[in-house]
Amino acid sequence: MKALDIAICGCGTAGLAAALLLHRQGHRVRIFERFETPRPLGSGLILQPTGLGVLSELGLGDAAIALGARIDRLFGRVMPSNRVVLDVRYSALGRDWHGVALQRPALFALLHQAVTSAGIDIVPRVEIATVERAGEQSVPRGLDGTRLGSFDLVVDALGARSPLAAARIKRKVLPYGALWANIPWPQAGSFSANALEQRYFRASRMAGLLPIGSRGGGEPRMAAFFWSLRRDQFPAWRARSIADWKRDVERLWPETAAATASIIDHDQLVFAQYDHFTLRTPYTDGLVHIGDAGRSTSPQLGQGANMALLDALALARALQREDPLLERLAHYRRLRFWHVRLFQAASAMFTPFYQSDSRLLPFVRDWLAAPLSRLPIGDMVLARLVAGMTVAPLGSARFEAYRGRA
Ligand SMILES: Cc1cc2nc3c(=O)[nH]c(=O)nc-3n(C[C@H](O)[C@H](O)[C@H](O)COP(=O)(O)OP(=O)(O)OC[C@H]3O[C@@H](n4cnc5c(N)ncnc54)[C@H](O)[C@@H]3O)c2cc1C
Repeated sequence: MKALDIAICGCGTAGLAAALLLHRQGHRVRIFERFETPRPLGSGLILQPTGLGVLSELGLGDAAIALGARIDRLFGRVMPSNRVVLDVRYSALGRDWHGVALQRPALFALLHQAVTSAGIDIVPRVEIATVERAGEQSVPRGLDGTRLGSFDLVVDALGARSPLAAARIKRKVLPYGALWANIPWPQAGSFSANALEQRYFRASRMAGLLPIGSRGGGEPRMAAFFWSLRRDQFPAWRARSIADWKRDVERLWPETAAATASIIDHDQLVFAQYDHFTLRTPYTDGLVHIGDAGRSTSPQLGQGANMALLDALALARALQREDPLLERLAHYRRLRFWHVRLFQAASAMFTPFYQSDSRLLPFVRDWLAAPLSRLPIGDMVLARLVAGMTVAPLGSARFEAYRGRA
């Protein structure tokens, strides 16, 4: 296999994982990133057995598991009735299956450290604007028009707002986003240290608490707290006092009062907006889109970072072939096609059951979907969906999802 010159645009989960995998295959890799010091944005996330499988292949699985919180169950009650309407257990797949929730900075640091130890070049303070073709080469340019070199392949890992994919995307900004904050893990109270727990009122209110482990080095264990909010209500939320908003939170979920005591200022909460789109063909001549740059959705099914890791691995597997480059990129698309299609469709379908103004959808969720999910087959179907294992994550390519030791 001929070694390629590869520019990776974006130093997030997808970009860092792709850089490591492609460097290990012998390609010459350079990463471009807009930030002076690359850093992760956001709160915490769940690594599914799929994402953990990719990290294990990178030799980082055990470190991620040691830092994070083991997640065995996703659990939700509707208020004020207190009925359980979501109860997904990974153990429906076998007793050794589980997820791991991590602080974003912890995942970022693991990947970033591995990239720097491998000696991969990261070029900071570069805002990528375009990529153009010059003969057989691809040339990325910065915002000021500077040419950033000439490469056999440019990998777009710039996230959901990638300017390299923008012209080809029909972007839908979802009506609901969420406020996110990292808070100390509540020692007191009845919260499970191994579950994502949620409370709902219809589909218009939702709060969640996710244990996300520690950043290592003696740092304390933390939790991610989130509160669903309609985009157009964000200015009104900012105008209210935090104490006033907390009264809403406590009305929905009184037990979180002590846990959220550390939130005293609006700026401790980050408002995340969610886009939904899927690129039909995530590549052109000399350019391939991976991670959120190739598709994006709400985090309701908790798959985004896992999909980014799977994309990176699929690209590495496809580039190992001896075919012309464009055919190898077509193979990358084939490897991920059904997995991406299924999860994008499932996310589009499920999100309004949890985040919308509908009165009908939460009714169906509570009185039809919840009882069905408790049937023996129903719990397995849901667990496979959450684990990212409904269809083969890498199509025909070899892939082993992570299964722990029970
Ligand atoms: C609040 C929230 C909760 C989530 N929860 C989960 C979860 O539980 N499980 C899960 O799997 N996923 C979750 N996700 C989704 C997950 O975070 C994303 O899918 C994942 O981070 C995508 O990784 P990426 O590398 O493609 O993009 P990103 O992480 O967005 O990385 C893009 C990188 O490109 C850089 N960049 C952007 N534009 C430019 C430019 N023009 N020039 C140079 N550099 C640029 C950015 O600075 C960044 O470093 C969640 C997302 C959100 C917002």
